[in-house]
Amino acid sequence: KGKQVDDRQGRGRLIVLTGPTAVGKGTVEAKLLKDHPEVWVSVSATTRAPRPGEVNGKNYWFMDEDEFVAQEKQDWFLETAVVHGMAHYGTPLRPVLDHLAKNIPTILEIDLQGARRVKQRAAELNLEIVSVFIAPPSYDELVRRLVGRGTENEEQRKKRLETAKVELAAEPEFDVVIVNDAVDRAAAELWDVIAKEYGIKE
Ligand code: 5GP
Repeated sequence: KGKQVDDRQGRGRLIVLTGPTAVGKGTVEAKLLKDHPEVWVSVSATTRAPRPGEVNGKNYWFMDEDEFVAQEKQDWFLETAVVHGMAHYGTPLRPVLDHLAKNIPTILEIDLQGARRVKQRAAELNLEIVSVFIAPPSYDELVRRLVGRGTENEEQRKKRLETAKVELAAEPEFDVVIVNDAVDRAAAELWDVIAKEYGIKE
């Protein structure tokens, strides 16, 4: 028996996924996409430099600051934020609306400020959202993961840990909390939320 889609009225809500830095949002998302390629994850724009292996248009749209600000002025973004006080990040609006209009499960993986901004703009844009917080098993575990990743220098790491502390405290603002103690389980939980939202039965 294959997948069925409910004939229900309206569309699934936009899934806004956030959580502290280095909580493993990316890993959970990768597992989700591997199991459920029908899910679409928005590609953000950023002014930060690409990391080794990152591809323009796939991981991010890499832009310089002038280009980013110009797009911002044109109302090209659903939300933007300066993350870790270093780089601009933003969600291009049009592709999000297009995917939702086709009832394709649509996910934003953005920081807390961005998630709040999307909530603020939801009514104006006639968007319904489900906010999902990916939580680490503990703060100590989060520190271990951040240090273990080794992609940041000392100063960047400090900034990120400060941000993470503040972000952890925001958990109660979210509709759904998923603890990422095991990636497979966390991804399965996220899928349950999506399947319910978009009326997908397996
Ligand atoms: P990274 O530079 O490690 O890829 O991402 C840093 C942070 O930026 C992560 O917390 C990620 O969720 C956030 N981020 C990525 N894209 C966006 C976006 O479009 N908007 C906002 N507000 N945050 C984003």
